[in-house]
Amino acid sequence: MSNTDTGLTPESCAAGSESLLALCRDFREGRMAHATLLTGEAGVGKKTLSHLLAKGLLCSGPEKDRPCGVCRECRRFDSRTHPDALFPAPAPREKTIKIDALRGMIDALSRHSLEGGRRVVVLDNAERMTPQAQNCLLKTLEEGAEDTYFLLTADAETALLPTVRSRCRCIRIAPWTEERIEKELLRRGVAPARARDLSRYCDGSLGRALQMEQDESYWAARDTVRRSFLSVFSLRDVASASALLKDQKDAGDRLLDILEQEIRDMLRGRQRPEGWENAAPRSLRRILDSILTARRQRYFNVGWAAVSDGLLQMISEEASTWQA
Ligand SMILES: [Zn+2]
Repeated sequence: MSNTDTGLTPESCAAGSESLLALCRDFREGRMAHATLLTGEAGVGKKTLSHLLAKGLLCSGPEKDRPCGVCRECRRFDSRTHPDALFPAPAPREKTIKIDALRGMIDALSRHSLEGGRRVVVLDNAERMTPQAQNCLLKTLEEGAEDTYFLLTADAETALLPTVRSRCRCIRIAPWTEERIEKELLRRGVAPARARDLSRYCDGSLGRALQMEQDESYWAARDTVRRSFLSVFSLRDVASASALLKDQKDAGDRLLDILEQEIRDMLRGRQRPEGWENAAPRSLRRILDSILTARRQRYFNVGWAAVSDGLLQMISEEASTWQA
């Protein structure tokens, strides 16, 4: 994502949240806390913001533009070659961050900064630290090395020991609103129709939206749902829709998820697909029930053809009531 990050600033990441804006203000005014913990669901932008702040702390560009993204410090931060930026992470093939992974950091912090300026410790997925590693980090935090900043991110605050949390400025990043995600996707050059779709289906996570954007199988599944389940307005339409779904057994769960989302959106009063303008809420709710039944059938190993045909037929019958 690096080239699409152009123009991304801590403030743009923090838009809409008072506590985050306060954090950015302190950053601009040189009053960053010694340790900051950003929490929030996967994909809300914790890591993006944390890395921007870390880079900004090292940046040698004009103060008001930090991180400038072009100075030597910024470039070295981006390529992970800045000697004063430390990134403790799990050892290869390990899921947890063990005490060993922190030793390099502790060793480095016991010396003077290599460049004579600030140092940053960027600890992503801090919840992966074992309790021993957390206690070790705690000791380092308590010692409070001068001009050293810790930037931690975790999915949930409670995943960290209370003693570690109490040493950090803890800020929770809320999921983004659909409008804000749509705007950000447009800014990154995503086509308007896709941006609108993604903002609805990414559960408030810009990270997830960007991932889905790249996933062509997702767009193929959306298209299949539109041409099958959402295009059966009479029994006559069922055969061609059924043929389209025949080979989609493995994508079955995803297709049902997308269909359910479409129906729920219609119930929420969103713009409806062609042919669905007059569908009554009662009818839509019956279709939701049938999707649930279809899921249950799949769980009990009923074949995909039978499950999808049953659903197609049910929808076509409902459709005949509003198409008449
Ligand atoms: Zn810079």
